Amino acid sequence: MLPGLQQATVIPHTEHGISSDHISDAALEVLKGLRRAGHAAYVVGGCVRDLLLGLHPKDFDVATDAHPEQVRRIFRRSRIIGRRFRIVHVRFGREIIEVTTFRGHHEQENRFRQAPTREQSRQLDSAHSHSGMTLIDNVYGNIDEDAGRRDFTVNALYFTTDGNQLLDFHNGLEDLRQRRLRIIGDARERYREDPVRMLRAVRFAAKLGFSMDGATEQYLRELGQLIESASSARLFDELMKLLCGGHASETFRLLRHYGLDQTLFCYRYPEADAAAAPADKLVNLALGNSDHRIAKGLRVTPAFLLAALLWPRLQQYLGQLDGTPNLMQMHDCAEKVVVEQSRQTTIPRRISNVSKEIWELQIRLERKDRRSVNFCFEHQRFRAGYDFLLLREQSGEDCGGMGEWWTTFQDFDEGQRIHMLEQFSARPKRRRRRRR
Ligand code: ATP
Ligand code: MG
Repeated sequence: MLPGLQQATVIPHTEHGISSDHISDAALEVLKGLRRAGHAAYVVGGCVRDLLLGLHPKDFDVATDAHPEQVRRIFRRSRIIGRRFRIVHVRFGREIIEVTTFRGHHEQENRFRQAPTREQSRQLDSAHSHSGMTLIDNVYGNIDEDAGRRDFTVNALYFTTDGNQLLDFHNGLEDLRQRRLRIIGDARERYREDPVRMLRAVRFAAKLGFSMDGATEQYLRELGQLIESASSARLFDELMKLLCGGHASETFRLLRHYGLDQTLFCYRYPEADAAAAPADKLVNLALGNSDHRIAKGLRVTPAFLLAALLWPRLQQYLGQLDGTPNLMQMHDCAEKVVVEQSRQTTIPRRISNVSKEIWELQIRLERKDRRSVNFCFEHQRFRAGYDFLLLREQSGEDCGGMGEWWTTFQDFDEGQRIHMLEQFSARPKRRRRRRR
């Protein structure tokens, strides 16, 4: 018998209804490959949780007693990723199955003041910061220990195709039925170990419509600041999951409610119903729109969402200038905002550059001259820029009626467009410098 298995409550298929038919072919292949090599293998985590809730799993995660190197040897198209938390990605066409080795308990003796170096991470399998944050988590253990190291009870359900059984170590099925998110173990300790779990709590509460149990919720405000100690690259990944998961509005409301927005953004957003300034309204509109798009199966552009979320901060900078900002000033302020935000979460250049283009286009889209119109219309970010302009108008900003103008312009044919342009001057009016 697999060590630790005796700790599980085994739930038969008749009580949970999941079978191998619900598991992707790629995940089934991984389970088969691991078993054939003599290892234990289970489908675990979000996919089991989502299947039980009748949702479509985003991806499938597999947990096994095989060590990463062993998993790597079994699957040709696989690679070990991560240093602090080593896992194996097994690729089947476009699908990637994440295979994690059962994690075990740590002896908290390797204490670090700063993040361990690459060399240290290679040599140690366990390390913690002085505040209790787990810096390296490569201690392997039994399945029951693995369950105890997972974040929430509903995320710690294991499914085996062998008899279609569900293994529950922490009463996760009962919590799932009660629609309750409960952190495993001591909430303070678990949040200290990995503060990103606080963001995950908010994300799952919003996505699943679950309530949080007492301790799971209680420490969010008290320990929220610790999130800043997580790596800014990881925070960016988490931010994308928070925003692009189809429940951005509710997620964002909860983030503000618990004051966690402060740890993620360089701007302090007002509570959802107190958002009176157009820039703050724009944020809510953008998040709502993006949720609708995702519900319809459409894609959302992270750069667009980021442009919206940072718009209020940009407005603060632009507001300090005399008069209407010109392109140069917009460019400078945009740069300042991006630099400021990068201190909280990294923003890959490919994303921040697009956000900046969307902002800079706003100046040109508002200009009533032919040259600007032609420039914008041919710009590769025209659509995003135009959508952003509409959002600004919807949120109550005065954009000189240009949102509507652009809508008509796009609906018209060539001849009508020429006519529309004839109303505008050929060149932007420039202030002439007087010769001395
Ligand atoms: P989704 O994939 O829908 O975002 P998920 O629960 O599958 O949700 P993943 O990030 O894919 O989330 O992680 C898979 C599983 O790994 C989780 O269900 C959980 O059991 C475990 N896990 C992930 N991150 C953590 C963490 N920070 N602390 C503890 N366990 C975690
Ligand atoms: Mg997952």
